[in-house]
Amino acid sequence: MATQWRPDTCSCVLEYNDNLQFVATVSVCSKHAALARSSAHFDEVLKHNRRKNEVVSSLVKNGVDADKIAVGYSPNAPVDNDPVLVFAEDPAIEAKVSLVFAEMPIKGNEVRPVLKTFVDLATEKVLQETVPLDGKKDGL
Ligand SMILES: [Zn+2]
Repeated sequence: MATQWRPDTCSCVLEYNDNLQFVATVSVCSKHAALARSSAHFDEVLKHNRRKNEVVSSLVKNGVDADKIAVGYSPNAPVDNDPVLVFAEDPAIEAKVSLVFAEMPIKGNEVRPVLKTFVDLATEKVLQETVPLDGKKDGL
């Protein structure tokens, strides 16, 4: 039984099975167009989505008020350098986010998240539901 997944970190649509393994690519966004329609596609999108969830969880755990930030991504970022974007307007919140980012461990080939201002919202993609409080709103 395949489950259809629409991640909130790009516009790809994928199907996976009960073991969280790739079943099919339903549609592919421009960023991921060059990837093979295989588990490589699923793994890449899942990795980026989980990274976003980790960043959000870490911010909330460290006392950043989720209502004062927005989270997003750049649709034009290359696959291998696609940081999670965190938007803040209030300088005090920005300072707190910067501190959390500075102390956040970066594993393997993970990309450090990037702090943006609300002015940048016009050119970047902001996730519809801003910040999922549990960091896992989209299920995986
Ligand atoms: Zn995609």
